Amino acid sequence: MNQTIAIDGPAGAGKSTIAKRVSNMLGYHYVDTGAMYRTLALALLRAGISEKDEEAVKKILVSTEVRVRYEDSVQHMILNGEDVTHLLRKEEVGDMASRSSALAPVREKLLDLQQQLAESMPVVMDGRDIGTVVVPDALLKIYLTASVAVRAQRRYKELVEKGETPVLPNIEADIRERDERDMNRPIAPLRQAEDAYLVDSSDLTIEEVCDRIIRLFYGALGITIAENAGFCFGVRRAVRMLEESIENGEKPIRTLGPIIHNETVVRSMEEKGVITLKDGASLPTDGKGTVVIRSHGVGPDVSEKLRGMGYQVVDATCPFVQKIHEIVRRESKAGRLIILIGDPAHPENIGTLAWAEGPCISIASAEEAKAMKLPKDARICVVAQTTFDREKFKELVEIIGEKEYDMLVLNTICHATDMRQTEAAALADSVDMMLVVGSRSSSNTQKLYDICKGRCACTSYIQSLDDLVTITFRSDSRVGITAGASTPNNIIQEVAGYVRRAKF
Ligand code: C5P
Repeated sequence: MNQTIAIDGPAGAGKSTIAKRVSNMLGYHYVDTGAMYRTLALALLRAGISEKDEEAVKKILVSTEVRVRYEDSVQHMILNGEDVTHLLRKEEVGDMASRSSALAPVREKLLDLQQQLAESMPVVMDGRDIGTVVVPDALLKIYLTASVAVRAQRRYKELVEKGETPVLPNIEADIRERDERDMNRPIAPLRQAEDAYLVDSSDLTIEEVCDRIIRLFYGALGITIAENAGFCFGVRRAVRMLEESIENGEKPIRTLGPIIHNETVVRSMEEKGVITLKDGASLPTDGKGTVVIRSHGVGPDVSEKLRGMGYQVVDATCPFVQKIHEIVRRESKAGRLIILIGDPAHPENIGTLAWAEGPCISIASAEEAKAMKLPKDARICVVAQTTFDREKFKELVEIIGEKEYDMLVLNTICHATDMRQTEAAALADSVDMMLVVGSRSSSNTQKLYDICKGRCACTSYIQSLDDLVTITFRSDSRVGITAGASTPNNIIQEVAGYVRRAKF
């Protein structure tokens, strides 16, 4: 079965960045066909041959040898025995490649090489005509594009980083011109194959584009990874913000408590130099570097203090938690007593309560709700910890409601858990086998398992790759994968990768 991923699209859409990452994630080889056209373009430039002189082009192609060599999975272009990889990104080479790639003899010469590569190993291949001409039976075809303005901006940034002084309107004009040439040439013009998925990367991060492609790839193999598997939005965002701080070279970087409740992730961040503080009390007073506030959030006093001490603060508080902070501040200011339903010792709630500008209490059980005694004319506002059990919240609100206070109830429970469970149920209904990935000690993973098992008899609880060994995967079975809230994406990817290899 051909497992090639073909990525076509115009210049500057991010094809090579995306193709490299996707091939890394899947253990595939990345084939950059643009580099092949650039290699032949270099040969023409060196020989002083114009692309307009087709006879001379044909003649030189006969004596030109183009090969590809992989060193540590990196593609090197060999022109007549010489490694020319480092010469290919020059503007004039790209320009010549854009013009000479329209010639039939040039395309014919490279087509063979590209098809041989796709047949000899699993590849992610990017170019202009991969899905339409080179590998028309590719397992997955992506047409990756972005607006001209976005592509020009990206190129501009790239050149500035290289120390050049580019002119944005010129880059835009150049991109338009290349698009025009690639799309309107008579042989193998750039176009979206009928069975290709269109991905517009204008408003997407690199991670988001890769994630979409990987999902489509697995989907094509009958393996569906639930959209809401694993980390919730707030946790993913916090980890991403911490990673951005690391990439920006901010030093030292400290997190106020573990960034998430997952040892593997915390350890990998620590290996990259991140210091995990137990709490605010263990923060040194040097005021140097960055302090990251994790998704649970903190009280306003804490962030103010950090800034006052001179730290750069990266606030990764989950936006859903921030919303509770706003409510608590606003309603307590308006004179309402805040009743937060949730575990008072949980870091999220410690932070939330600190936003109250008046009296506030936290309760978690029916007994506490029953025992609550306030003056008859009390005005109260009831909110919930984001991860509190929905049914229990309802029960406690009913108990408090019987006391007939002037009560404002705002259900601030986050939808992530609901969505994960609803999606897992629907997925379990539509597949032959279901894998639920997470630790046995994770209660939300156990709940997911119970839901899936009730709908798909062939449901397995996967704690580690060892649990997969005893399972038989048939090539035609449809497999669904979901995961608990504390399961990192790389574990989900490993499980999906295992199933792929076991199926085919
Ligand atoms: O993608 P890259 O900019 O490296 O490609 C250089 C040129 O080679 C492009 O402008 C395009 O005209 C041409 N090309 C092509 N077919 C491919 C890959 C690249 O015509 N499969």
